[in-house]
Amino acid sequence: MTLRSTLYDLKLRHTFTISRSSRDISPVVLLEIEHDGIVGYGEAAPSRRYGESVETVQQFLAGLNLGQFDDPFQLESILDSVQGSAEGNYSAKAAVDIALHDWIGGKMNLPLWKYWGLDKNKTPISSFTIGIDTPEVIERKVREAEEYPILKVKLGGENDQEIIRAIRKVTKKTLRVDANEGWKVRETAVEKIKWLEQEGVEFVEQPMPATDLAGTAWVRERVNLPLVADENSLRLHDVPKLQGVFDGINIKLMKCTGLREAMQMVHTARACGLKIMVGCMIETSVAISAAAQLTPLIDYADLDGAALTTNDPFDGVTLVEGRLVLSDRPGIGVVKRDPVRL
Ligand code: MG
Repeated sequence: MTLRSTLYDLKLRHTFTISRSSRDISPVVLLEIEHDGIVGYGEAAPSRRYGESVETVQQFLAGLNLGQFDDPFQLESILDSVQGSAEGNYSAKAAVDIALHDWIGGKMNLPLWKYWGLDKNKTPISSFTIGIDTPEVIERKVREAEEYPILKVKLGGENDQEIIRAIRKVTKKTLRVDANEGWKVRETAVEKIKWLEQEGVEFVEQPMPATDLAGTAWVRERVNLPLVADENSLRLHDVPKLQGVFDGINIKLMKCTGLREAMQMVHTARACGLKIMVGCMIETSVAISAAAQLTPLIDYADLDGAALTTNDPFDGVTLVEGRLVLSDRPGIGVVKRDPVRL
């Protein structure tokens, strides 16, 4: 098996601001694993929140010894070896996992959703994200997002009320709110969530810091809106701990090291009575299309990462009036749009 990787700067349509950061360009690492004349695509979208950068991804990939394996169908052994090669490095591990799954689908000439026995007509509607901004820009973004029936609103900054007011001036659509750990005080979180309930919000994602699980449990006892864990729900072993504190989890390939563990999280969350969302970072259609393969199994999708960019080098899953449309292409179902040399 040969492995090739390259840096790619994803350009954002709008400056993307959440409660802890702001950016115009989101660098990712694209990966190709080639074996037996078939290429599998992968991607790492590293997050500083988890101590990662494109440099740490490249370092991790350079340290891998996949040459010891000569059959990508040995997925469990290969991924166990990838997991064991270093701590952390979630997104780099996800890149390898995605590329191997894509290769297997390519070799069998089957899309992953079909290989897993899923019904592609059961994909959910994806929300479209509105980052933190001034009321004028928020209004413009909401108008631009006209075709998307559900909006995910980033709050947790200084101007939460202003943002919701600006959105409600323009639309009555279902809103989902993501505070990205932005409300540090329990009482504030309760107050905000009760207010958001009046504003037609469906659920609130990660209201409190991940380090304050007791605070989140305290908040949950005092509000009606469901709470969904994101920064608290990284890996499989996190899922059982969230029972009774959150109502659902947000699974992201870039946190859970890829499709293999994401699938394990789906089943574990179900066993724990938790709702399931599949989300993303700012990613190309490679990682988005990989995550989308799972979505017939889940309740909520937030897979707009590629739609927020202007130079996605791949064609993959599409959003039609917000609904994820899976193709019949094999593996994760992507093809290169532009000639990107890896
Ligand atoms: Mg989130």
